[in-house]
Amino acid sequence: MIAADRCTGRFAPSPSGPLHFGSLLAALASFVDARARSGRWLVRMEDLDPPREMPGADSLILATLEKHALHWDGTVLYQHSCHARYREILADLSARGLAYRCACSRARLATLGHVYDGYCRTHSPPAGQTCALRLQLPDQVVQFEDRIQGWQQQNLAKGGDCVIHRKDGLFAYQLAVVVDDIDQGVTDIVRGSDILESTGQQIYLGGLLGAGKQQYAHIPVVLGADGLKLSKQNHAPALDDTRPSSNLCRALETLRQNPPGGLDNETPETVLKWAVTHWDITAIPGVNSVTA
Ligand code: GLU
Repeated sequence: MIAADRCTGRFAPSPSGPLHFGSLLAALASFVDARARSGRWLVRMEDLDPPREMPGADSLILATLEKHALHWDGTVLYQHSCHARYREILADLSARGLAYRCACSRARLATLGHVYDGYCRTHSPPAGQTCALRLQLPDQVVQFEDRIQGWQQQNLAKGGDCVIHRKDGLFAYQLAVVVDDIDQGVTDIVRGSDILESTGQQIYLGGLLGAGKQQYAHIPVVLGADGLKLSKQNHAPALDDTRPSSNLCRALETLRQNPPGGLDNETPETVLKWAVTHWDITAIPGVNSVTA
């Protein structure tokens, strides 16, 4: 474990495809925000879900980051190398009575409209049955100040107890993101606002696992012409690696950082240097989405 005494940001892509403009925004914002405070910036590959991944996407993503001069500190952490650690945490949460096995079928879950009713809290599945593991969430409101979205109050009970280990054996994002942010000493989480709603649960789980102080900033997600979030799943176009400075300037404009005209003719290093010197997180629009 790394001591969380120095500002540490991170970019945590899932290797389901090459980087698109929306993910560049998250990479750039987290990088500049950390570097503006002389902090560390880490890259973590969230390869938890092999069926949804694209072979070779990790190398493409890392090459694109390098082309854009988004150089990370240390080595890239791959979540597939952390399974033993996740198992240890799951065993700990179960032993503390904070997580429980759930055998509810998809059909039953569908009738609940995606808000789990806690049935297996009181109806333990028989030993040996293949189960998911759920985190028992109290009826409690988590409050935090998001550096872009402002004051947040999230009711943990609203979404029902979340899955932290899936029935198919895969570890849930909600578990891995919290464990790794703690273990990597991440202090500053800057990412897309599509994850804002899950943050209360992550803060709660982090508290159970002894997380230090962490700040959050959720940037707007980028919508394509079809009004949907740019994502690898809906085949957002890959970034053109031959135009890194122009991509970076466009991203800075989207983040309302007002890069001067002509900066896109400079090297990506120069663009980033300008961005770090002039970084103003308060200028980022506090809306949930912007159009590409
Ligand atoms: N892996 C997530 C994604 O690609 C990001 C998770 C995070 O930043 O917490 O959307």
